[in-house]
Amino acid sequence: MTVERDILETDILIVGAGPAGLALAYHLATLAERDNSVSRPEILLMDKGSYVGAHAMSGAVMDPRGLAELIPDFKEREAPLSAPVSADSFVFLTANGALKSPFMPPPLKNHGNYVISLNKLTGWMTQQVVAKGFDVYAGMAGFDLLVENGRVTGIQTVDMGLDKDGTPRSNFEPGSIIKAKVTVLAEGVHGSLTRQAFEKIPELTRDSLPQSYLTGVKEVWEVPKGRIKAGEVIHTVGWPQPRHEYGGGWIYGMSETMVSIGYAVGLDSPDPTNDPHGKFQLYKTHSFIRRILEGGTMLHYGAKTTPVGGYYSMPKLYHDGLLLCGDSAGMLNARKLKGVHLAIKSGMLAAEALFEAARSSDYSTAMLAKYQSNFDSSWARKELYEVRNFHAAFEGGLWAGMIHAGLQIVTGGRGLFDRRRHKADSAYMMKIADYQKRFGRPPQKVAVKFDNSYTFDKVTDVYKSGTMHEEHQPSHLVIADLDICNNRCSEEYGNPCQHFCPASVYNMVDDAGRPGRKKLELTPSNCVHCKTCDIADPYQIIRWVVPQGGEGPNYTNC
Ligand code: SF4
Repeated sequence: MTVERDILETDILIVGAGPAGLALAYHLATLAERDNSVSRPEILLMDKGSYVGAHAMSGAVMDPRGLAELIPDFKEREAPLSAPVSADSFVFLTANGALKSPFMPPPLKNHGNYVISLNKLTGWMTQQVVAKGFDVYAGMAGFDLLVENGRVTGIQTVDMGLDKDGTPRSNFEPGSIIKAKVTVLAEGVHGSLTRQAFEKIPELTRDSLPQSYLTGVKEVWEVPKGRIKAGEVIHTVGWPQPRHEYGGGWIYGMSETMVSIGYAVGLDSPDPTNDPHGKFQLYKTHSFIRRILEGGTMLHYGAKTTPVGGYYSMPKLYHDGLLLCGDSAGMLNARKLKGVHLAIKSGMLAAEALFEAARSSDYSTAMLAKYQSNFDSSWARKELYEVRNFHAAFEGGLWAGMIHAGLQIVTGGRGLFDRRRHKADSAYMMKIADYQKRFGRPPQKVAVKFDNSYTFDKVTDVYKSGTMHEEHQPSHLVIADLDICNNRCSEEYGNPCQHFCPASVYNMVDDAGRPGRKKLELTPSNCVHCKTCDIADPYQIIRWVVPQGGEGPNYTNC
């Protein structure tokens, strides 16, 4: 079928209205106001959520450094910061106990930071961008990254109104081509266009180590007064995470009665039953957590991945026609688990390079390379370099990791080794037989009962994420070979997708055609766009592609 597509043209296309993309637009406008000898470049800033912030979710404690540089009077303008951090603790959990660290290592202190809701912050940042005269288009999803003769020339947005088998329905609207002098990918973690960029332009990741990820699962609770202070920050390690696996939990007081609680699990786990959602629900059953949540009401749910590979896993930040910002470029301080300030700074650094390009009407690769040099001489690079080996320190488990991390603090980030090589997360997953050999027992799925008033099953939690997808459209989880799922994977790994997906999209059901056997059944409408499946699938046959624009989670106060 030949489809005629509208062609739009702009100077700068920004894909993703998160902190990085919004900061880029805002800062570019500020630079243009300061120097009106340059005509302001045209921007098209788009986001796949139904509103800006619909897909923005984070813990989140924000270091205000980036925001203060971008909008120095952010407090006067009433940026929606839930609470300044008022107390900080680090707790080691065992199955029956909780040991509070008598001191906070200085790099982990949160004094001066803010507990925030990322989706509220991005909503507010959008208002600031719009006040500068730029439009922000929500509900637009980029399907294909256009690369011509090695140059990124723009994107094609997703087709709307296709049936499950790809046949156009009566409401069919073909995706548009958006051509741009520069395309900025600020899509967040493991974006589908960023993945295409890495595949189509191998040079971007040629010198990088594979990225590592956590899947974080979160709920927002309303609790009775007196359980937590506004701005109180608690981080935990230990139970229920096995000591050889990376991960931990958080409890943040958004107000005296509102709590952000979550649990993040490394996707480099050897365990094919690794279940971030299940571990989070089990985590909540600990008496230390119950004291805070019991009697409260769960209001919101969300899940997303976080890039923790660090400095050595970052890609090259530019290419002909392309810039990468924020989480799309792996800019996250893994030691502090904070990336919002770095995303904002990366957007600002990109804006400065693009403003120079606009001044000289030259968007060549040499001009775009200024973004990389801006970054290399910035505090963002210095901060990321100081924690460059943090995640790699934990390859030998929690205790070895704590020792390595301590040594890194006193050696400027080097520790006992530098640039330890690691594999892609999916390569760490062990087949059931190998796991049994190594650990002396088969992998055991986390055992937790869901009462759906304190502990929630995945489907109930997904309801609280506001997730919506049109049923009649091609699946946005594309599986290259279902036969592998239904046969080889069942035998070798026990279908880990049914465990690691935090939204019950993948389920093994009885196969009527093969009595006694199961087959994979997908419910893409549950998907909260966390990208875990695309990352963790051991055969790498699952591909997350965008569904129709405006679909997915509708986060509020997350
Ligand atoms: Fe996350 Fe994949 Fe499940 Fe969607 S289907 S919620 S992207 S793991």
